[in-house]
Amino acid sequence: MFIDLSVSINEQTPVYPGDPKTKIKPAAKWASNTYRDHYVSIGTHAGTHVDAPWHMVKDGITLDKIPVEQFTGRGVCVQINGQFDLATVKKADVQPNDIVLFYTGMSKVYDKSEYYDNYPSINNEVAKYLVKQKVKMVGVDMCSVDKPPFLIHRVLLGANILIIENLTNLEELVNKNFTVYAFPIKLQIDGAPVRVIAKL
Ligand SMILES: [Zn+2]
Repeated sequence: MFIDLSVSINEQTPVYPGDPKTKIKPAAKWASNTYRDHYVSIGTHAGTHVDAPWHMVKDGITLDKIPVEQFTGRGVCVQINGQFDLATVKKADVQPNDIVLFYTGMSKVYDKSEYYDNYPSINNEVAKYLVKQKVKMVGVDMCSVDKPPFLIHRVLLGANILIIENLTNLEELVNKNFTVYAFPIKLQIDGAPVRVIAKL
């Protein structure tokens, strides 16, 4: 059984405050061309997306340089009630090469300002632990793993751990065994929208 952990992308899909708005414009229309084609202008951090090291590490690698095996792996879903704490994460038995998804419930307010104003940040202890455990990716159902000046982004990306933001449907994964597939398009820049799937 597959579960889609990605949000739909259209011009109304919310973006992080200050990020470019998604623009979708027809390049060919059914009425005049009998086919459809579109120009799409999208920020690399719109909707469900992957952050590559180059996003927040000066000499970090770009998304196209990430080995493909890093985009899939055993998933671990950790439920966060309120704030992140190391004891909760340790209980989840995170192993090397895991993909750790934090279910905070924030996706319920994805279309509200609260989604950007009032979310829990991953703390430094938890980030350091994930680096020590050598996980492949860290995903959240939030707009970001932390807040400006984005030190947690730098801890994770600095260790070449990828970050997935704006996940949805994580409630379906609590206490389940699953594999994550998250292959973004091969852009030679800082990140890209991604279709994230869990296979139960
Ligand atoms: Zn991002």
